[in-house]
Amino acid sequence: MIRQVSEEDSGSYTLCVQDQTGSIQHHSSLAVVDHPSPPSGKPLVSAVVQSSLTLSWSGPCYDGGSAVLRYSIEVKPVGRDSWKLLTDTCTSTSFHVKEGLVPGEQYQFRVRATNAYGVSEPGAESDIVVMASSRDEDPECEEPVEYTEVTVNTTDRVDNLYIKLEKLGMGKFGQVYKLQEKRTGKIRAGKFSKARLQKDIANARSEVELMNKLHHPRLVHCVAAFQEPGWVILVLEYIAGGELFERIVADDFEHTEITSVDYMSQILSGVGYMHQQGIVHLDLKPENIVCVSKVDTRVKIIDFGLARKLEPGVPVKVLQGTAEFVAPEVIAYEPVGFTTDMWSLGVICFILLSGESPFQGENDTETLQNITSGNWEFDEETDAVLSDSAKDFIRRLLQKNMKSRLTAEQAVNHPWIKDKAISSTKTLSKEKIKKFLARQKWQKTGKAVLALKRMAMLSHKSDSNSSPTTDSKFF
Ligand code: ATP
Ligand code: MG
Repeated sequence: MIRQVSEEDSGSYTLCVQDQTGSIQHHSSLAVVDHPSPPSGKPLVSAVVQSSLTLSWSGPCYDGGSAVLRYSIEVKPVGRDSWKLLTDTCTSTSFHVKEGLVPGEQYQFRVRATNAYGVSEPGAESDIVVMASSRDEDPECEEPVEYTEVTVNTTDRVDNLYIKLEKLGMGKFGQVYKLQEKRTGKIRAGKFSKARLQKDIANARSEVELMNKLHHPRLVHCVAAFQEPGWVILVLEYIAGGELFERIVADDFEHTEITSVDYMSQILSGVGYMHQQGIVHLDLKPENIVCVSKVDTRVKIIDFGLARKLEPGVPVKVLQGTAEFVAPEVIAYEPVGFTTDMWSLGVICFILLSGESPFQGENDTETLQNITSGNWEFDEETDAVLSDSAKDFIRRLLQKNMKSRLTAEQAVNHPWIKDKAISSTKTLSKEKIKKFLARQKWQKTGKAVLALKRMAMLSHKSDSNSSPTTDSKFF
């Protein structure tokens, strides 16, 4: 009698009987049948669009001694406890989920195997998958997203795993290159930041940590990170379309309030999600808003190099940003908040609709003084062209008092964003945006550092406890 029989008991048994005259043997084989073990590994998600996706998985390591007949698939919206059965009649190792998924929502999946003797325990949970949001007009273009929790790799070299292709851009702390992953051939963007000091390493690592919390289709996501002597490298999804403003000025592009509402609402959806996660971006500006591809109108926010997590009751003061886009509280070296980003969105929207930069002075010092004084206005031409609700939207963002500004959630519900019928269909001028872009390029070389120093000087005036060391000749 074998009690509590298990898989290990199966096999060939030999019974041997012996007396003085000899022995005789009898063989018999024993198969222990049970329900299968769970499917091995986690299910993979692909072809994610608004409300459908494809799951694929591997069979169980052990079928329970009886062939697997079918699989059952369960889904759970992120943040809920209970799993819901999608199907229990799937007879292959992939399944197209096309019902019950809500655009913009996040889900996880798991699979069980069934044979003639029962149903397995569930297999590993899939990575979290974010459905494309409902506003995405051409869902087929949204690349399938599989978000992973990135940890900084200190053993491998990025050069061993990726081929370095052309340079994509220059930033304040390093350079961005196009990369190709050797194993998969996938194209990525690699952000190489110089990190010799402990402080620089900590900054780059914090960018990775924040990006791990920012899994949203309107925010660039991080797929890997490496720390090598002198460098930290973030490997990001590659975004092919270039800066939004460059696209807008292209000849074949329509530029009206309606198209601008579309961009602003996408940006708001990404920023709103960030704020929900307790994170402020602190460097929102046109060059950090890029298009998904050359042929569609979806955008993503990049560059979380200055982003910070805000904890309730812990004031955070920063000395950073880009002069034209920073909020008055940053210049005054007062605590920042989520609406600090909303000010920058006000400036971006102002430029988008008018081509004028509302606070731009002859030099950065003047720009910062214009922001501090809080005076801005539309020039006559713009004032005449824009709808009242567009102007109201900008006015509610460019409030000197940060508590009076719209939050991301309120901004999404502002009539200009929400009710497309009221925005104007007049063609807006691209000429001034072209001038803005030309000036931005010309300014970029080496100016950012000076701007920060000047900001440090200004803040030094208003906050005697902090004493950034700068050279007063910049005034
Ligand atoms: P930081 O403020 O952390 O110094 P940065 O300005 O140095 O940031 P990014 O803004 O992240 O760095 O990148 C610099 C430029 O590289 C961008 O303006 C853009 O042109 C290009 N770039 C960055 N990330 C990507 C990406 N994921 N795909 C394609 N191009 C990118
Ligand atoms: Mg940048």
